[in-house]
Amino acid sequence: MSEPTAAAAPASPSVLAALVAELSSGGIEVVDLTAPLSSGTPVLRLPPEFGQTQVFELEEISRYDDRGPAWYWNNFRSGEHTGTHFDAPNHWVTGKDLADIASVPARQLVAPAAVLDVTDEVAKDPDFLVEVEHIEAWQDRHGALPDGGWLFVRTGWSSRSHAQEPFLNADANGPHTPGLSVACARWVAEESPVTGLGVETVGTDAGAAHGFDPAFPCHSYLMGSGKYGLTQLQNLDRLPSTGAVVIAGPLPIVSGSGAPARVLALVERTGRTGQAGRTS
Ligand code: MN
Repeated sequence: MSEPTAAAAPASPSVLAALVAELSSGGIEVVDLTAPLSSGTPVLRLPPEFGQTQVFELEEISRYDDRGPAWYWNNFRSGEHTGTHFDAPNHWVTGKDLADIASVPARQLVAPAAVLDVTDEVAKDPDFLVEVEHIEAWQDRHGALPDGGWLFVRTGWSSRSHAQEPFLNADANGPHTPGLSVACARWVAEESPVTGLGVETVGTDAGAAHGFDPAFPCHSYLMGSGKYGLTQLQNLDRLPSTGAVVIAGPLPIVSGSGAPARVLALVERTGRTGQAGRTS
């Protein structure tokens, strides 16, 4: 082996080695933003004239029995948009010629997240809509949204994710869940530097968005702009407003419109950072 040239040598001690050390010491925490996936996981329910998505189901193949004496395994049945999941651009007609879920570049699955907290507003009004002005106020405090990153909207809605009815929060007029206004959805898609929108609700759009113009503006504008959605996130209260790095791992379903995803966030813990290597 020859010595690496100066140009090829890593700058400073390995960044990844430092990351591993911080993970070991607790200087960096891994926060799981993923809802557990089971037959009880809430799913979107559309008006009856439309096709419906499947709830998650396990089908046992064998469990240390005569079907397989030493092994346990299952088949599963699931919608692409079941539980915590990733919306690909081709999910919506506006993005029908854009990327499928398997074509989303791996590089874009690791990205910083900005967290906008509207928990108090949503507690007062489940139909609360984020406006551009709310994001501009956030930027006045925290700086620009991250280029190539995520905008996560923290609403507290994941506290309802244990069951279908409170999570969908529907009455005779339809579901009542928070989201973005039409103007805000368009701004995030067409003006902001983020590549995606992450939410705690069953979809990126507000419950009332079927009646907006255009209908479902987050889907319409974001997918049409080649951007992404992440839904049914939880533990957003454990993220800082800025600085978290999100790893979103949707299954690469060829030609698929989305996929269940394990979504993790790396978060620096103040006061512990930098202590790696000083522990025994
Ligand atoms: Mn979806």
